[in-house]
Amino acid sequence: MKCEICGDKNPSFIALLPIVQKNGSLCTMACRECMSQSHAYCKKHDMIHMGFVDGTTACPSCIADLRNENITIASSLGTEILSSMEVSDAEDLSDLIVDASEFTGWSAHVVILNYLATKAMRTGQSVREVANRVIEHRSANYILQ
Ligand SMILES: [Zn+2]
Ligand SMILES: [Zn+2]
Repeated sequence: MKCEICGDKNPSFIALLPIVQKNGSLCTMACRECMSQSHAYCKKHDMIHMGFVDGTTACPSCIADLRNENITIASSLGTEILSSMEVSDAEDLSDLIVDASEFTGWSAHVVILNYLATKAMRTGQSVREVANRVIEHRSANYILQ
């Protein structure tokens, strides 16, 4: 196995990064050096990012940190978002939240905050900026994609 970034043919370590390649492959094999310089690797947490269908990536621990930093405003943000949406959209979102809530054990508002924090990490925005966009468009599509 070779590093698909620097071309090293015999690295002692290979990481699978969630970086889409031109040949259509959804991931990229990288040696330790290339991994540590990649945007799909978090130096702070020494962790490879999760990849998303649109090609963005985010560190799961950074998402958790951001979620915890904003936990005190989870309930006001969640209420603000749900009340900004059409009733049918809010109901669709609530259905999704119930599933996620059962899986994670989080309250509905923390599930919404986690969606916001994930999108924020993927796009380099703050949780507030992502929330504003959802409220402006009156739709949760932006954070569910
Ligand atoms: Zn390399
Ligand atoms: Zn991180």
